[in-house]
Amino acid sequence: MAITPDKKMDVLVSLCKRRGFIFPGSEIYGGFANSWDYGPYGVELKNNIRNAWWNLFVRGRDDVVGVDTPIIMNPKAWEASGHIKTFTDPLVDCQKCKKRFRADQLSGIVCPECGGKLTAARQFNLMFKTYVGVTEDASALAYLRPETAGGMFVAWKNVRDSMRKRLPFGVAQVGKAFRNEITPGNFIFRTREFEQMEIEYFVAPENAPAAFEAWLDAMKVWVTDVLKLDPAHVVYHEISEGDRAFYSARTIDIEYAYPFGTSELYGLANRTDHDLSRHQEATGQDLRWLDPESGKKILPYVIEPSWGLDRSVLAVLLEHLDIDEAPTTEKGEKEDRCVLRLPPSLAPVKAAVLPLMKKEKLVDCAKDLVQQIRRQGIAVEYDESASIGKRYRRQDEIGTPWCLTIDHDSLEDKKVTVRDRDSMAQERILIADVPAWLTEHLVQKP
Ligand code: ATP
Repeated sequence: MAITPDKKMDVLVSLCKRRGFIFPGSEIYGGFANSWDYGPYGVELKNNIRNAWWNLFVRGRDDVVGVDTPIIMNPKAWEASGHIKTFTDPLVDCQKCKKRFRADQLSGIVCPECGGKLTAARQFNLMFKTYVGVTEDASALAYLRPETAGGMFVAWKNVRDSMRKRLPFGVAQVGKAFRNEITPGNFIFRTREFEQMEIEYFVAPENAPAAFEAWLDAMKVWVTDVLKLDPAHVVYHEISEGDRAFYSARTIDIEYAYPFGTSELYGLANRTDHDLSRHQEATGQDLRWLDPESGKKILPYVIEPSWGLDRSVLAVLLEHLDIDEAPTTEKGEKEDRCVLRLPPSLAPVKAAVLPLMKKEKLVDCAKDLVQQIRRQGIAVEYDESASIGKRYRRQDEIGTPWCLTIDHDSLEDKKVTVRDRDSMAQERILIADVPAWLTEHLVQKP
């Protein structure tokens, strides 16, 4: 049974809280500014997505290297990049109810909440300010980065000089970014503190269009093969010249059909040599790349694929959340079952080991199996509380692909019942074969 779009966000937000994925931030103080805590399963899911990304795009390639640069950089870098002047959104206030909106997100000319008159739009800078050191004067003013990209452009010279890479090659970074968003909301879709996974891919200007296409293909592979999003839910939106940033030669927004509307998931842009030329001008440093063959120096173009990590978590949860029917203990009866059909590679827990009853011999056998699985580096959970049906439901809700039940027969035949999350089919396999079986199935079902 599909969940209707109007219910889906509520079902998800409540499941996330109930099952330890995502909680309201600062909740005991009444919450704070649409901030969210990732709970024990949420952090595992987020780590799995981040690691899958790093493995695919950094470790999995010869032409991308990683960095980790500071959140607070020399503020001169943000001046040079144009962020201090232009990293803004148009802000309007309702003169009646005093609510604030992003002018570019409104369809009418009056307040969407109360119909009141709106002020004229003014540009509002999204960067968070802070002070570095013990004084709080203008000379100590600094900013929290609004995107991870800036640090990679500033580190480009050192990466270029230390890594001896030939063009084209990319620099990758994952980390927090901060934006004082005018209208945060829709759960973790738009928050003021979020995580990005970005690559700045440096390429000779004439090869930039082909590199753009190649990254578009790579992003499609990520969306369909790793996150397993249905291609029908994803829109590749070519941004027209008039609507993209002035320095961009081409931009595609990769959008997802969230229940609250189709909106940006990721972005891909050909940023030309805009960033390097600005930093070169501001610092007087030579940021060009010397082609050892021609002896010519060129300022590379940059293709920038940009992924929001929290939006990835949101899209994955929405895509794989489902309600179907499962048999109850009463013969012939069925009940609704909430299940997260996460790709096994992303699931927070890969296998749950469940003794059928809290009997010493079954418990010992189950705990022994947990150790065997853990030794293989596979995320496993042991659960002996409540009825077996309730334990299955709980694992279904957190997206565990396989439950392994130890019963009295297990003590005799040394076998365990493997229950598949999606089909609920059960098969018996030798306990000794479980770690290899799991490893094989995790590879088979990425
Ligand atoms: P939007 O149009 O939704 O404000 P954007 O075009 O400003 O997004 P980019 O600057 O391209 O976003 O940032 C790259 C990616 O970072 C986005 O595709 C998105 O996944 C993520 N992202 C941006 N802003 C936020 C936010 N406030 N909360 C969560 N993720 C964000």
